[in-house]
Amino acid sequence: MCIFCEIIAGNIPSTKVYEDDNILAFKDINPVAPVHIIVVPKVHIESANEINSENSKYISYIFEKISEIAKSQGIDSYRVINNCGEDAGQTVKHLHFHIIGGVKMGEKII
Ligand code: AMP
Ligand code: ZN
Repeated sequence: MCIFCEIIAGNIPSTKVYEDDNILAFKDINPVAPVHIIVVPKVHIESANEINSENSKYISYIFEKISEIAKSQGIDSYRVINNCGEDAGQTVKHLHFHIIGGVKMGEKII
């Protein structure tokens, strides 16, 4: 099992901020901003390269819930990041979105 599947299964502890049948959101263990949440589909999808017509419903569902998750953390302005693959710095091979906020960020993405 990958580390995020272990978190979903409850085998590795996490600070959950939202959970339902399809997705889990928890605090990043190494936050880069005052608010840094990881949102994952419960089904294991390796990366954005593996999104297809069968599983894209989980991705759209995550985006349905993102504003609610952000609001629960006290922010309505934030950056959503997905790292896909090695050059982009994807370290955990379970598709996830970073919600980052609580700080004034610049206009540049990198
Ligand atoms: P990425 O570089 O996009 O693959 O991001 C992986 C993220 O997962 C990093 O920001 C890590 O800090 C975070 N992370 C890794 N292990 C854990 C964990 N056990 N609990 C919470 N966040 C984690
Ligand atoms: Zn997984």
